[in-house]
Amino acid sequence: MQTRLLINGQLVEGEGAGYAVLNPALGTVLVEVNEASEAQVDAAVRAADRAFESWSQTTPKDRSRLLLKLADTIEAHGEELARLESDNCGKPYAAALNDEIPAIADVFRFFAGATRCLGGSAAGEYLPGHTSMVRRDPLGVVASIAPWNYPLMMVAWKIAPALAAGNTVVLKPSEQTPLTALRLAELASEIFPAGVLNILFGRGPSVGTPLVSHPKVRMVSLTGSIATGANIIASTADSVKRMHMELGGKAPVIIFDDADIDAAVDGIRTFGFYNAGQDCTAACRIYAQSGIYEQFVEKLGKAVASIKHGLQNDPDTELGPLITAQHRDRVAAMVERALAQPHIRLITGGKAVAGDGFFFEPTVLADAQQDDEIVRREVFGPVVSVTRFEDEEQALAWANDSDYGLASSLWTADVGRAHRVSARLQYGCTWVNTHFMLVSEMPHGGQKLSGYGKDMSMYGLEDYTCVRHVMFKH
Ligand code: NAD
Repeated sequence: MQTRLLINGQLVEGEGAGYAVLNPALGTVLVEVNEASEAQVDAAVRAADRAFESWSQTTPKDRSRLLLKLADTIEAHGEELARLESDNCGKPYAAALNDEIPAIADVFRFFAGATRCLGGSAAGEYLPGHTSMVRRDPLGVVASIAPWNYPLMMVAWKIAPALAAGNTVVLKPSEQTPLTALRLAELASEIFPAGVLNILFGRGPSVGTPLVSHPKVRMVSLTGSIATGANIIASTADSVKRMHMELGGKAPVIIFDDADIDAAVDGIRTFGFYNAGQDCTAACRIYAQSGIYEQFVEKLGKAVASIKHGLQNDPDTELGPLITAQHRDRVAAMVERALAQPHIRLITGGKAVAGDGFFFEPTVLADAQQDDEIVRREVFGPVVSVTRFEDEEQALAWANDSDYGLASSLWTADVGRAHRVSARLQYGCTWVNTHFMLVSEMPHGGQKLSGYGKDMSMYGLEDYTCVRHVMFKH
């Protein structure tokens, strides 16, 4: 297994403390990896800073060629990368191979094309005798910090736009799931010039903090929890770095009486429980209208009870484990607190699965109320709550009454209502009669405590550039 760090084009052993990387489906250690030392963090940032001089001057066409080569390389090593991801996260292998690897390669291909099409406003004479133009230039060294739920996908979302725009990158994957990023380090070392992409390993306090606070880092891009985002913003405020924050979510799913109930049930069975619900856009906070409420809860309970959990290689497995024992215990404690309230009804699931892996039963909790913790806080596990609503105004008010603002969906046969409600939802994304469908061309990102900045799309590319005005006196 590749466990070395990539610093200035060289693969080197970490010089910091060792950290055990687990297989969460079995609770066993896969490998121990050494963290980067503070000196190695500094060396990586300095290498990226030196490489910026030449990388920022390459043409979009040349950067595009290397990004396309990386996409091809990822596809060529798809089975190996999917195997590593599946072992390290507990994801079903088939899902890692068939859902994630093609999407990851596509993100690199999208940004390879996008960088050649980056637009700006037209040049013009806005003062007599002067010509003005707008440039979009790269920023410098970007520190990219990734989470554990889709490790390689999040690496792609971070490094593809940053490199495409002409920045250099120091990436830190999650300490829990570094294996695909470290293998990518080896593959990318054959493609990019030394220092353009550097990949470290380590925990937040020991490696993340010195990385994001390094004075040569011009931008920090985090996908992670709200607490980590707030911590990074506060601790780097003095150096006024560009921030790109993709934080938590608690997606409302509004099901109106006129919706196709079977389609909604099927959608929630899939999009509430994909990746064991460890998804910032998971369809987890359901509001069902009173006319169909009981029928919907009954059908959803039956559908969710049929979800099969199991080991990565079993082709029947739909639901993997949670990422750590601590996270499983946190999910279990939230469900216990919910069930301690007399008005909440357990429809299916509700407890951890016995055994060495970190599995939790797929769970549906009905009759939840707007102020319940289970409705307000992100669970990040295979747990959905269902709340009854009476009319459109109430559903909209409750959906928007949240600290989060990442993703939402509504299910209805009424086109007018679909337009009306989606226009008023305060979320970065609203799906109508579906949920969780992502494409490289469309932006992904939140409002409120879910953060700011966009991943994917032209907006994502623009986020990694600065707008500059250049004026010529005739
Ligand atoms: P986390 O915040 O615990 O960790 C994220 C990353 O930040 C890790 O690499 C971690 O080592 C690093 N980190 C922690 N403290 C740091 C510090 N002080 N300085 C620098 N780096 C530090 O989050 P997680 O548990 O890995 O991921 C789950 C969270 O991510 C959930 O809240 C989820 O909603 C969110 N998420 C959001 C999106 C999105 O697109 N908005 C996507 C996936 C996950």
